[in-house]
Amino acid sequence: MQQLTDTVFVHQVEVAGFSVACALILTARRAVVFDTLTGPDDLQPVKAFVDQQHEGRRVLVVNSHHHWDHVYGNVAFADDDIVAHRSCRRLMASRSYAEDESVPLPPAEGVPLPTITFGDRVTFADEGGTLHLIHTPGHSEDSLVAYHEEARLLLAGDTLEWPLPNLCQRDGFASYVRTLRQLKQLPVTRILPGHGPVMGKEIIDANQRYLEGLYEAVRAAKENGVSRHDLTLPAEWFLAEGVELSEFYAEAHQANVEWAFDEV
Ligand SMILES: [Zn+2]
Repeated sequence: MQQLTDTVFVHQVEVAGFSVACALILTARRAVVFDTLTGPDDLQPVKAFVDQQHEGRRVLVVNSHHHWDHVYGNVAFADDDIVAHRSCRRLMASRSYAEDESVPLPPAEGVPLPTITFGDRVTFADEGGTLHLIHTPGHSEDSLVAYHEEARLLLAGDTLEWPLPNLCQRDGFASYVRTLRQLKQLPVTRILPGHGPVMGKEIIDANQRYLEGLYEAVRAAKENGVSRHDLTLPAEWFLAEGVELSEFYAEAHQANVEWAFDEV
């Protein structure tokens, strides 16, 4: 695990074409595991680290949202509390991951549901640190971020992604932009996205520029009568110069274009 601050550690794994991150935050009384990756095997180093550093701390798992690559490891902490936005629990309960052909099969042991849910915001604080969980719809309706006040650190889940955000919430553009504006108000110096390296606030601007530019271009194309099928908008138009896209993010961009076409 990579140590980010005195009390914050990061574990990143490579999955089919992309990386995904989880974080461990130690406070005086809690060991907070932010996201559980793609299964209990991925989470093993975190589990072992938590067991070592436990020292009477209560484990609290956070699911940033219901997508499989953030919750499949929940079973590694099946006896502990799992906190998420209330629509995350609903989405997890109503969806059968086993029937969704677009995602890998869930672990045989199952995917435990969140045990604690909230609406707009919830704060966990003790002498060792203050962690605010904030509902940030846009990537998905149940997305949340964790803002660690003392460390000036934002754990963004998929609300922020590098090099570009992924649209998974129907008609979510307006709430996504609202979310990004809200995040810019937070006094953070470091941001860990769900996918991508640790960065500064420039990732918020980059994601906002991409979204606003993409929607504007899609709207213009649609007004000019371009069909969904014929619409090609190179990702480079909406990214900072020199940013290279992996195959995974090139496909994600194309999916975003179609998603935007259906919304505008
Ligand atoms: Zn996601």
